[in-house]
Amino acid sequence: MIRHRCSNDSADSRFASRWLRFQKPARSASGRLPSIDDSTPRGRFELFSLSLLVGIIAGSTAASAADSSQLLNLFRTGQYSECVEASTKAIAESEFNENYRLLKLRSEMELGRYADAAETFEAALKNFSGSIEVRWWGRDVCRFNNQPERIAQLDDEIAKLVRQTPWRYSDSANRIIFGRFVLSQSGDPKQVLEGVYNVVKKFSPTYAPVYIACGELALEKNDFALAAQNFEQAAKHDPADADAPFGLAQAFAPSDAEKANAAIKQTMERNPNHIGCLLFVADEHIDAERYHDAETVLAQVETINPLHPQAAAYRAVLAHLRNQPESEKQYRGTALKHWATNPEVDHLIGKKLSQKYRFAEGAAHQRQALQFDARFLPAKMQLASDLLRLGEEEEGWKLANEVYEEDGYNVFAHNLVTLQESVTKFRTLEGDGIVLRMDAREADIYGHRVLDLLQRAKRDLCAKYNATLPAPIIVEMFPKQEDFAIRTFGLPGGAGFLGVCFGTVITANSPASQAAHPTCWEATLWHEFCHVVTLNKTHNKMPRWLSEGISVFEERQADPTWGQTINPLYRKMLLGDELTPVSELSGAFLHPKSGLHLQFAYFESSLVVEYLVEKHGLEELQKILVDLGNGLTINDTLARHTGSLDELDLAFAAFARQRAVEMARDADWSEPELPKRASTELLAMYLKEHPTNYAALQRQAKQLIADKKFSEAKQPLESMRRLYPNDASSDGHLVLLARVHRELKETPQERAALESLAKLTDDNVDLFARLSELTSQAGEWEATRQFAQRWLAVSPLQPAPHRIAAQAAEKLHDDHLVIDSYRALLLLNPIDVADLHLKLATALQRTGDLLAAKRQVLLALEEAPRFRAAHQKLLEIIKASEPATQPADKPTEAAKPMKPAAVSK
Ligand SMILES: [Zn+2]
Repeated sequence: MIRHRCSNDSADSRFASRWLRFQKPARSASGRLPSIDDSTPRGRFELFSLSLLVGIIAGSTAASAADSSQLLNLFRTGQYSECVEASTKAIAESEFNENYRLLKLRSEMELGRYADAAETFEAALKNFSGSIEVRWWGRDVCRFNNQPERIAQLDDEIAKLVRQTPWRYSDSANRIIFGRFVLSQSGDPKQVLEGVYNVVKKFSPTYAPVYIACGELALEKNDFALAAQNFEQAAKHDPADADAPFGLAQAFAPSDAEKANAAIKQTMERNPNHIGCLLFVADEHIDAERYHDAETVLAQVETINPLHPQAAAYRAVLAHLRNQPESEKQYRGTALKHWATNPEVDHLIGKKLSQKYRFAEGAAHQRQALQFDARFLPAKMQLASDLLRLGEEEEGWKLANEVYEEDGYNVFAHNLVTLQESVTKFRTLEGDGIVLRMDAREADIYGHRVLDLLQRAKRDLCAKYNATLPAPIIVEMFPKQEDFAIRTFGLPGGAGFLGVCFGTVITANSPASQAAHPTCWEATLWHEFCHVVTLNKTHNKMPRWLSEGISVFEERQADPTWGQTINPLYRKMLLGDELTPVSELSGAFLHPKSGLHLQFAYFESSLVVEYLVEKHGLEELQKILVDLGNGLTINDTLARHTGSLDELDLAFAAFARQRAVEMARDADWSEPELPKRASTELLAMYLKEHPTNYAALQRQAKQLIADKKFSEAKQPLESMRRLYPNDASSDGHLVLLARVHRELKETPQERAALESLAKLTDDNVDLFARLSELTSQAGEWEATRQFAQRWLAVSPLQPAPHRIAAQAAEKLHDDHLVIDSYRALLLLNPIDVADLHLKLATALQRTGDLLAAKRQVLLALEEAPRFRAAHQKLLEIIKASEPATQPADKPTEAAKPMKPAAVSK
């Protein structure tokens, strides 16, 4: 579960749902992933020499007779039964046409008539004993007739035939079959691409199937751009083929929903029975929690092939999500009925369960898939990823390494293996069942603050939700956004995400990666830790919206400046038609129209939780979580505790609209009908007639400020304040009012405006800086300390907040904070090193830690040997420590640079 940046950064809104199919990373030169399109050969697998084929070119075989093309058309338009019938007739008339047999066999396979397909295969093999294509399709026939041993035999035969008489298979169709075969035998994709497919392209540049084969290979390696290029070529050369738009749908899905949907539509127009495309659509429905729609599409697949293994696997997933274990088992049995050791089935079930946060259940299915076929890499990769999310890191890393060893083009494995190197350098801090991993320097500077915050979150939230957590809870903070993304999603990207929780593992961006838009890391971690609590409470069995809603709600409960609150944009969305029914809220996270819509989904979900707590009480919310944990569906649970989901949708919509209406009730939120550059006079005239128009007031205030008419600007600003006191935006009345008062040197009023603003925002560093300054100037050190702490909750890697915190702490005799602050400052490249060491020594001396104090003085003297104050302090400390410490403490030894400041508390 994810906490998104609370600004309107346009994150890739499709990222959350599609991280498994994301752009190939652009790695640095050293860590670059070899692409199948690279020009340097890898040559890991050389099954047998591809060069045998090169040079023997016959172009494509135009073997298809007129009725052969009619049969092909039946197959390509999804008329499989008709194709079987017609090809049976055609075979009777012309026994020695390989295409007839192949189309019959493939149609029978599409229809799930596996036994018939086996007969067709045997007959075909008898007539075409030298065909590698018959054998290639026969492999699948054997699988679905539970004859796995026969496949190895067919593999051997294909290899032997090509080796013995390569010229017989030099036409385009056979070359592509051969390429696919080499890939199935773990051949090097790059060699297949260059040595086989590119050769076909060279000699038959308009032959569409070669572009399909290249596109599919690129898709498999997550190279979506290359895939799209190839499928576009295929579509150009064969406009009637449904596989080309289907390939495009898959290539565009991670980046461009509109294009992907158009491609799906095109596929279905060409072949309404395209099983691959139907399953793809069902998969999307399941991701978006549109389970009913998924079932409708699966039913469509079952009318074509009642025993389709993937359709049955999806059914098993749906049964699992509905807590129907018996039915789940049955569907899995159906999926494995004709191929009892099909690793795809458990891999698919497990993958979907993991996407629903059921990582433990998902991992068990991947293990099962690997038991069926230990070489099935997708299962191994998914298991590695599941284990890393479950916090079982040792085995997770090991498996990722194994996958990378076996498939050097695997983007996920490559990324993880590279990431592991930087993670091993992290520092680990532990406390209260929490294992926190951070960059070592960051850990020294503010690691203890992070651990404190996490422990407080654990204590408060576990008590509130009556939850017990397993140990350890792993929290990893990444200074590099790319590393965060790889650890979280497996691939770079997702720039808008601050933190993600998988249940017992939290990953987050550290403040180091947020230079441009710093956010409050405390709020982020509180949000994520709340996910830890709710996900563990429900054993990860809760809809996305509810977990997000509770996390945002709990942010606001912990600190009113955290979490999202209503603003004019949300008000407009709530009152317009942007309100998503509760029953469809999870989809709003998966397919938001924009970054703003995604933000709004978080806000709306938190409002639902607020509604549930207000209307039904926290206890009911807890009961809902217990029920979900017991496997009840959200609909059933809500029906038990709050009435039906339909009622909830209606009641909540009314509640949300009421909230929107109540926000700045007296303000006129319409856009003023004024030219963009309206003059001051025109604005004033407009405001006479529309005195509560917020946008017009704001424009007037800004114009007056731009004209340096600061006193006059106060009037519209005060009106804005009366209408909408909680405006915390960067050009809201509080920010502008503070500016006006500052210009007019009205410091108390400036401070008052800033303090009002500070009650509404958690990440405005300029505000915290100015308030620290103003309060310190006024000698109000308690306030200074508070604002410095709030500043540190955003920017702990900047020296300025530590300096002001040290200053306040000195005045308040808060030695603990004094010591922390100087230690942090010493790690932030200060120029006054000796002075800081001396100040730290003095504070340590006050706490009675004379040994540490002495070390700091010696470090000060090492930096500045003639530093008189330090010499004096050294004498003082030595004198004070005489009865306790003996001369054993030799200066030469003590003068060694001390270890980084202790961080665990
Ligand atoms: Zn979240």
